Order: sequence, then C-alpha cells, then structure tokens
Amino acid sequence: MSRTLGQLVEAEQIVPWLADNVAHINKASGKGAKETSKLVKLAVSCNTCQATKTCCWSLVVARLYEGLLVAATLRASARDTPELREQLRIRAEAMEASSPYDWRTPCLFLDGKERCTVYDVRPTSCGALYVYTPPELCTTRDREIKAYVAANELAAATELEEAFRQRLSLRQKVGRRYLGVLPRMVLVSLEAWDRDDFRDYLRQLPWPSDADIARWSPA
Ligand code: SF4
Ligand code: SF4
Repeated sequence: MSRTLGQLVEAEQIVPWLADNVAHINKASGKGAKETSKLVKLAVSCNTCQATKTCCWSLVVARLYEGLLVAATLRASARDTPELREQLRIRAEAMEASSPYDWRTPCLFLDGKERCTVYDVRPTSCGALYVYTPPELCTTRDREIKAYVAANELAAATELEEAFRQRLSLRQKVGRRYLGVLPRMVLVSLEAWDRDDFRDYLRQLPWPSDADIARWSPA
C-alpha cells in the first residue's frame, strides 16, 4: 500500500532532517551578518529592533520543503484548521497576484506581539534577513536600506531542494522549481499530508518558471 505524505515523512524522519538543515542555514546567516557587521562597522539593527516588524509584511517566497516544515509544525501544535487553510488560500492567491513592491500585509504567522509563531522553522529567506540601517527605514522600504547579503546561506538552501525532491521521489520538472509564495507552500503541504497520491497531486500544481520567480524577487 502507498504511504501518505505524512506517513512517509514520519517513517523517513524527513521533518527533523529538514529542521536541522534549516536551523543550520538560519544560524549561519546570523553569524554571517555579525561578521559583516564588523567589516562595515555598523551594528545589526535586527538584534535590538523594537519597531513594528514590517520586514514580516513582505512577499515571502519559500521552497516546498520550507512549507512542509511549517506545515508539520502547525499540525504538531493543532493549528491546522479549516479556517487556517482558508486564510492560507486567500493569502496565497493575493500574494501570487501581487509583487514585492506592492505587497505590504502582515504575515499570517506574525502574532499580536510582533513575534513569528513559526520562528524555529521560519523559511531561510526570513532567517537570512538582517539589516544594518535603522529599523524605521524598513517601514519605508527605502533604497538606502543596507541588508546582509546571505549568498552562501541561500545557495545552501537552494541545494537542499534537490536532496528533498529525491527523498520524496518527486518527479523532476524541467524549467520549474518546487517553490512558491509561503502561504501556498504551507497550504499545499497540508493538503498533501494525508494523501497517498501526494506525488501526483504535487506534480500537477502550476509550479513557477524562472520568469515567475524573477517577478517575485525585488530587483
Ligand atoms: S528587518 Fe528591520 S523591522 Fe525587521 S527586525 Fe530587522 S530592523 Fe527590525
Ligand atoms: S514566517 Fe515568520 S519571520 Fe517569516 S515573514 Fe512570517 S512572521 Fe515573519
């Protein structure tokens, strides 16, 4: 009998494997930001930031494995409800139709105290974000914002896509990647969780081309 996605990830210990890798990449970003801070002689503003976390009002692109990791956390903490899935769907559609320049909506995972409720498993694009300019600039999205460039860490996160695809035996899709906006990646992971045809379900989704991905990335 075929296993569901949930059965597979549990039997193969995929969630702890992903959590370790993502935590390692996010930790490396923090370390890299600190080292660069010494070179540029500017403090990392995020470490003492008391401002409204407008960095979490951004369009977040995540890899499928990052969505799956968040989905596993939501399931483990009984937060996977029909209401949440509906909010994820609405948010995903709106984000996909928007651009990084226009999207300014607090993330679904940001709580009333400005805390990320999936912090330990947050996507690497969130974990790699550090700035050296005052937090007030983050709200304005001013071009003067000096951010840490986490090239090595984000390359490691991209490399993990292939290892994940192979562990799940997902079919390779030429010119497409298993990624999308964060709410979509979490939603499709939750929807796939109890399906034993999860590979077919995932394969038929409209995975983005390089052009779609470029549209979601600020120039
Ligand atoms: S990116 Fe800006 S708003 Fe976000 S934590 Fe850092 S300084 Fe604060
Ligand atoms: S997942 Fe967490 S860190 Fe990333 S945008 Fe949402 S609240 Fe912020």
